[in-house]
Amino acid sequence: MQDVTRWGIDALHRAIRGLKCKTAVHICYGYGIKANIDWKQSLGEEWRQYEQIFPALAKSRIDQVSLECIHSHVPPELMALLKGKDVLVGVIDVASDKVETPAEVAATIRTALKYVPKNRLIACTNCGMAPMNRELALAKLQALAAGAALARKKFGRATAKAKPRRAAKPSRAKRARR
Ligand SMILES: [Zn+2]
Repeated sequence: MQDVTRWGIDALHRAIRGLKCKTAVHICYGYGIKANIDWKQSLGEEWRQYEQIFPALAKSRIDQVSLECIHSHVPPELMALLKGKDVLVGVIDVASDKVETPAEVAATIRTALKYVPKNRLIACTNCGMAPMNRELALAKLQALAAGAALARKKFGRATAKAKPRRAAKPSRAKRARR
């Protein structure tokens, strides 16, 4: 864990050197493969590793932090340590074949909203979906979208002004068609 502050943050800064886009780091407890699931069972009831990493990340120049939340043993209040960062909150469990309901997704978002301001919260999957069956992955992404929409309806939209996105210029081909 000490490696995070010793050289980890410097390594992230080196990785983003020269980038003009938003930068994100994903803190990974692993895909839903057996080796990971077994390892997670050895971590105990409460996973507090983030407690050491988040304050260092909060001070870093990385814009966004992605982490797992649903069915995670990480205490959700640790997200409050990521002040000033966009938080990509995992609301879809990639280690389970059960498709979340929109209500479940919205409930996870509600939990995260206690610690992350609305304009900083981006609903996301816990991790990548590469080992997952394609249809299942698509169903889970649909649940993510439906749950995020439900959360916006229930808890309101972000009110703080987000940075305006640069409008994409229509491509030459599209302009020619007009
Ligand atoms: Zn991951």
